[in-house]
Order: sequence, then structure tokens, then C-alpha cells
Amino acid sequence: MYDFVVVGVGPAGARFSRRAADAGYDVLALEQGRLGEPLACSGHVSGDVWQYAGEGAREELLQNEVYGARFHVDGPGSDFEDFYKTEVVSNVIDRVGLDRHLAELAREAGAEVREEHTVTNVDEGDESVTVTVRGPDGVADVEAKMVAGCDGPTSRVRRDLDLPEPDELLHGVLGFSDEVDHGDRVDVHLTMPEFFAWRIPRGDAGVEYGLAASPGPDVNELFDDLVGATGYDVDVAKRCSGLIPVGPADSVTSHRGFLVGDAAAQTKPFTGGGILYGMRSADHAAREIEPDRPGTLGAYEAAWRDELATEIRLGHWIRRAYSLPEPVQRVGLKAFSGEIGVHMDRPTSVFSREHLASWLGRS
Ligand SMILES: Cc1cc2nc3c(=O)[nH]c(=O)nc-3n(C[C@H](O)[C@H](O)[C@H](O)COP(=O)(O)OP(=O)(O)OC[C@H]3O[C@@H](n4cnc5c(N)ncnc54)[C@H](O)[C@@H]3O)c2cc1C
Repeated sequence: MYDFVVVGVGPAGARFSRRAADAGYDVLALEQGRLGEPLACSGHVSGDVWQYAGEGAREELLQNEVYGARFHVDGPGSDFEDFYKTEVVSNVIDRVGLDRHLAELAREAGAEVREEHTVTNVDEGDESVTVTVRGPDGVADVEAKMVAGCDGPTSRVRRDLDLPEPDELLHGVLGFSDEVDHGDRVDVHLTMPEFFAWRIPRGDAGVEYGLAASPGPDVNELFDDLVGATGYDVDVAKRCSGLIPVGPADSVTSHRGFLVGDAAAQTKPFTGGGILYGMRSADHAAREIEPDRPGTLGAYEAAWRDELATEIRLGHWIRRAYSLPEPVQRVGLKAFSGEIGVHMDRPTSVFSREHLASWLGRS
């Protein structure tokens, strides 16, 4: 019997596996495909990501450094307001490489990480959980004291444990051109229903064009418009898409199971980013949860919400601005543009001394 079976080895699953193995637990981590594939993420993160990585990772995975964002109310080529820092705001990284790196760290810590193993059922009992797994050698049942659902936005574990679904799933689409661009600004277009479109320079790795929108409109058509003749007018290859959960739900724990990362909708409502929130929550889970004591699941719920709930609540408020009438957006962007002191993962830093000093120092 394992202490933990971890379903899904993205950033959340890899991080939880590593920290739980470090704590001396027997961990089996199961990934349905190959690590990091298929790609459905921009890999645009704050520098905090390197705290979760090992030696040499930054040199291997960093593609570009970003100092700010140009916000457009309209599409490509339109006027913009510049928001920037004099230091690096965010990093553009190789996301597939990140997943492989984090999984390797989990292995080094002692977790058993298996690729091409799909979990097809989770049965929660009083004393243990039975996880059914389909792998290259057939179907087998695995017993564990606890199951960690780190299996992304459409989590099977969430469904089998009867845990509530996230409030909303946004639909994101990405495409990459082979333009070399070491620019230090991302472009953000507030033109999508309830969300936005973007252009991210990725250095030698090309330029990424992307968008996310609430379900309803045909996102592929919106993407064609973004990169087509009336938009950026570029040749885009390697298109991919994915879902972004926004929430989170009221509960992400059951009797012998819990969710971490996108499965728990631990994401930023105003950007959809979830790499760091998922890993921060994974650390809370590994620290708080004892597989022999289901009562400790409550401590995990409390700990991750304590750290992230206010940030997420404020993130929902920021996102509302994407749906304001265009003239109001223009006035708002103009008023707040210029040098900023905000941390991209912490919207509450808008109230920080650093940000207020930047803001008041203008004019
Ligand atoms: C278009 C788009 C752009 C994004 N850009 C950014 C960004 O720039 N920055 C950022 O921070 N976030 C971004 N995100 C969000 C980010 O990708 C997620 O928040 C992050 O991947 C969540 O990590 P996770 O480990 O929880 O889930 P995932 O990375 O989704 O990992 C879940 C893993 O579980 C596996 N799995 C699923 N079901 C099973 C099963 N039954 N059995 C076994 N394995 C299973 C999957 O194959 C997958 O590997 C973006 C998302 C999208 C869609």
C-alpha cells in the first residue's frame, strides 16, 4: 500500500510528489501521457518559479525576460498604454522542459513516477483508496492511503470523489510563429469576451500568439482573426488549446482524497495562470496532510486558502475590468499606466508601498 497515489504529473503533481517523498512517504505518481505533453500553456511566470526548480534549470529553461505589458483596448496595431518595471517582471520559459525537470526532481526525492499510465477510476473507502490504472501492461488496481488529484482542469479524481466542479472553464488557444523576438514587452488585447488575447516574445523560440475566452464563441475563429490579415498577419504553426479553470470551488478535499493545482482551480482569475499557485498549494498539501490521519485534510484546505483566497478574490475583481465599456477601459488604463510595483502573482501588491510609491511618483 502506498501512502499517496498522485494522479497527473504536471507542476502540481510533480511538486507534491517531490515534497511528500522528501517527507519520507511512499509516493506513486501516474501520468497518462508523456511528461509535459501535449503543450497547452504559455509558460509565462514570475521569477518565483526558480525557487521550485533545481540547479541549472534557469539556464536550460529560460527563453526571455519581460519588463512590462502594453495594454490595448483594440486589436493588433492599435494604441496602447505601457505598464512596466525597471526590473524583470516575468519570465517566459520552456513549459515542456519545466514539467520534465520537476518530475525528475520528484524522482530524485524518491517518488516512483510512471508515464503512460492513465487512471480510469478512483474508489474511496474508509481505510484506503483503490485507484484503477491502465498502462502499457494492462489494467491494474493500486491501493493507497490517500489519492492526490493533480490531474488538471477536467479532473477525473474530482469527479470520482464527488467534489464540486470549478465555477467556470475558459477556453485558451495558442499558436507559435518562428519570428525571433527578444522584446521585453508582452502585448495584451482586451478584445475577447470576458478575457483577452496576447502576443509573447519568446526570444529565439519564436513568438507566441494566444487568447482565452469564456465558453460560447468559436475560439478558433477568434484566433484566426487575431493572427490573420486583419490582425497580426503572421504564419502560425503548432497550434494547441486547453482549458483554464476559474474558481475555486468550496471544497477540494474528501475523506481520503484531495485536489491540487488546476484540478482545484487554484488559478489567477485575471490571467488564468496556475503554475505557481498549484505548486504553492502542493507545498501546503505535503506539509499538512498525513496519510494515516484523514483529519489533516482540513488543515490543507485552511492553509492554501489562507495564502491564496484573498489574491484570488482580488483577481476576480481585476478580471471584471475586461468587460467594462471601452471608453471606461481607456480612461482606466491611462490613469494606471506607467511604472508599476505590482507582483504578477500577488494582486494585493497593488496596495504595496512599492506600487503606491511608483504610482504617486508619476506626473
Ligand atoms: C492556453 C493556456 C495558457 C496558459 N498560460 C499560462 C501561463 O503563461 N502561466 C501560468 O502560470 N499558467 C498558464 N496556464 C495555466 C497552466 O497551464 C496550469 O495552471 C497548470 O498547467 C496547472 O498545473 P497542474 O499540474 O495543476 O495541471 P496540468 O499541468 O494540467 O497537469 C495535469 C496532468 O495530469 C495528467 N492527467 C490528466 N488526467 C489523468 C489521468 N486520468 N491519469 C493520469 N494522468 C492524468 C495530464 O496529462 C497532465 O499532465 C495556461 C493555460 C492555458 C490553457
